Amino acid sequence: MKRIVILGAGESGAGAAVLAKVKGFDTFVSDMSTIKDKYKTLLDNHQITWEEGSHTEALILNADEVIKSPGIPNDAPIILKLKEKNIPIISEIEFAGRYTDAKMVCITGSNGKTTTTSLIYHIFKSAGLNVGLAGNIGRSLALQVAEEHHDYYVIELSSFQLDNMYNFRANIAVLMNITPDHLDRYEHCMQNYIDAKFRITQNQTPDDAFIFWNDDPIIKRELDRHGIKAHLYPFAAVKEDGAIAYVEDSEVRITEPIAFNMEQEELALTGQHNLYNSLAAGISANLAGIAKEDIRKALSDFKGVEHRLEKVTRVRGIDFINDSKATNVNSCWYALQSMTTKVVLILGGKDKGNDYSEIEELVRSKCSALVFLGLHNEKLHEFFDPLGLPTADIQTGMKDAVEAAYKLAKKGETVLLSPCCASFDLFNSYEDRGEQFKKYVREL
Ligand code: ADP
Repeated sequence: MKRIVILGAGESGAGAAVLAKVKGFDTFVSDMSTIKDKYKTLLDNHQITWEEGSHTEALILNADEVIKSPGIPNDAPIILKLKEKNIPIISEIEFAGRYTDAKMVCITGSNGKTTTTSLIYHIFKSAGLNVGLAGNIGRSLALQVAEEHHDYYVIELSSFQLDNMYNFRANIAVLMNITPDHLDRYEHCMQNYIDAKFRITQNQTPDDAFIFWNDDPIIKRELDRHGIKAHLYPFAAVKEDGAIAYVEDSEVRITEPIAFNMEQEELALTGQHNLYNSLAAGISANLAGIAKEDIRKALSDFKGVEHRLEKVTRVRGIDFINDSKATNVNSCWYALQSMTTKVVLILGGKDKGNDYSEIEELVRSKCSALVFLGLHNEKLHEFFDPLGLPTADIQTGMKDAVEAAYKLAKKGETVLLSPCCASFDLFNSYEDRGEQFKKYVREL
């Protein structure tokens, strides 16, 4: 019996273990940290042996194949040992892909993945297709393949998940954009990160589709280097050479494979970045043969995703918007760009090597004040103080940040939490940061 070892027992690892067991492999799970109770129960229910708090080499280095959770870095000691022994390491998605013939709609990019994935899922589901939501959001693909049957999967793929994919084939691949992110995991080499993103197109055939943003300079430059065989579906904000989907005369138009149009103002999601997300989702739905009326309806009644430009409430004429998921400078750029009033911007946190010059012009033109929220705000002071805006320096937590922003904001303005940074200095996660923001706003 072939032995499969799964490293990491989160949503993806636990799901992969269940699928391996169901398919008859000798299955073992090892996690360096503590495994959550719900995953322990899942593993126990399937009589899968597991360990936590360490990686016992004798139980791992005898594997025929290893499934690695995306959170484990490629240079972790156990991974280096496996590589030394030439034991194949794959991702959960690669493994699950072997056991389903469902059509795979896969979404990657530096920003917009979750929004676009959720929107595509919403359109497919509302149109009555038998579809599963998987990858970074929802339940793991492997668990769904083990326990359910779907005709389509809509899968959000981070670059880490793409790293260990080899034979997996996306029928529809979506690449939203490529801007610097997670370079610490790619030997600080942008090309490595770009190559990981383009892996979404590997194994695609001329019957498949590759949807991408036509104006992304990196995607454009790289397109020819990756030998893409899929049919290309580039989208853009306005009609231009090459683009098959765009806005013209206030109408969203998709020209292939089937002509589609709707009023732009009927799109549920607003802002330039969300136009891209809506176009990518519209093309995907169009390719799946969903009727125009169904696509229009779903693009206009989508409720949005929490912590992404989420409207919280209005207090004494001041709007509060939670964009806690903006963990890099580029996503804050789009958030600021979509603002229609003056903004008090709350930013800061764990800096991932940020270059704030990308948002300098927008901060100058749109912001009336800044609130720096982080344990170390020196870099923010250094960059933004020369702009001469009123600022507050908060190192204590969200309650003080919300109160400071409220004091600085005038009637008719917007307080926007769009931090450009990871949350781990003062919060458990970006969700925790967003929840706290909403809580203290509601208490004002
Ligand atoms: P991801 O899953 O890739 O992190 P999300 O959909 O969660 O992306 O959005 C994260 C943040 O990125 C949002 O808060 C928004 O400010 C910004 N954003 C969303 N879509 C795009 C896009 N297409 N291009 C650039 N920024 C975007």
